[in-house]
Amino acid sequence: MAPMHGTSHALSRAQCSSHAGAPLVLIERPIPVPGPGQVLLKVDACAICRTDLHVVDGDLAHPDRDIVPGHEIVGRVVSSGPDVAVPTGTRLGIPWLGWTCGECEWCLRGQENLCPDARFTGWQIDGGYADHVVADHRFCIPLPEELDAEHAAPLLCAGLIGWRALKAAGDGRTVGLYGFGAAAHLIAQVAIWQGRTVYAFTREGNSRSQSFAMEVGAVFAGSSATPSPVALDAAIVFAPVGALVPIALQSIKPGGTVVCAGIHMSQIPAFPYAHLWRERTLRSVANLTRADAQEFMALVPQMDLRISTEAIPLSGANEALSRLRRGDVDGALVLVP
Ligand SMILES: [Zn+2]
Ligand SMILES: [Zn+2]
Repeated sequence: MAPMHGTSHALSRAQCSSHAGAPLVLIERPIPVPGPGQVLLKVDACAICRTDLHVVDGDLAHPDRDIVPGHEIVGRVVSSGPDVAVPTGTRLGIPWLGWTCGECEWCLRGQENLCPDARFTGWQIDGGYADHVVADHRFCIPLPEELDAEHAAPLLCAGLIGWRALKAAGDGRTVGLYGFGAAAHLIAQVAIWQGRTVYAFTREGNSRSQSFAMEVGAVFAGSSATPSPVALDAAIVFAPVGALVPIALQSIKPGGTVVCAGIHMSQIPAFPYAHLWRERTLRSVANLTRADAQEFMALVPQMDLRISTEAIPLSGANEALSRLRRGDVDGALVLVP
């Protein structure tokens, strides 16, 4: 396929930024050329994830170059590298997991999300805060045709991480969700579709998030500062707040599980062993495998998810990130270049 020529636009976190959290800067660059194994997509939508904030704010170890954030990308193939047989026009999603070695012990036992050499979109590989993006076609995900780009984009991280976290939480009937943003609003609906009961916990006094949780089907929404009104089978902590972990542990039954679903969390305070005693499990979930993606995307058409989005132009990305930092968002913000 002939390479495309022309200029594209992207928002980049400058590596030389004098301070963490500096605004992204608009850059002009040639349209990227797909190399061997890669596809070039014209971006139709890229959802904003809290992890983007951790990249911008320097909470994650930073690659030694400028980077374009964004890892919930929906686009269509406009050209392909050598030896790639993906037809032009094919719609694909690009998630956080951008490349793995395929040879290490984790890759070989179905845990490619733990590959020590894994490379991630929007962190080590330029992501979707741009009008064009290249990706390894083997890590792109076919998306349900029922959803438009804006509504499909949040599934690629909020949905997929939520799905992996929900599986890790076990099959108990009552699930608590700590932090009710993009991931929780999707996974609450998935859990309810599975026949479970959802309890939502948000910042004290955040009545807007609490009503949002009730709107998507939670039976209870209240402050995360106090233990759950009923003992839960499992809890998933989406908020990057370590102080929630002992509270969540006190809210689950013996034998229950607390899953930490974020890539970054503030320090977990010390807590008495009694909170963990009686076979409670505390674990994390790290990103996703392609198998998770296939499994989840196959279920999406059956679930009739209400995906709450707000479309933002590329020029509004910095303000959108500030809103996410302040917690002033329900559902998912989606860049539509
Ligand atoms: Zn590997
Ligand atoms: Zn994400």
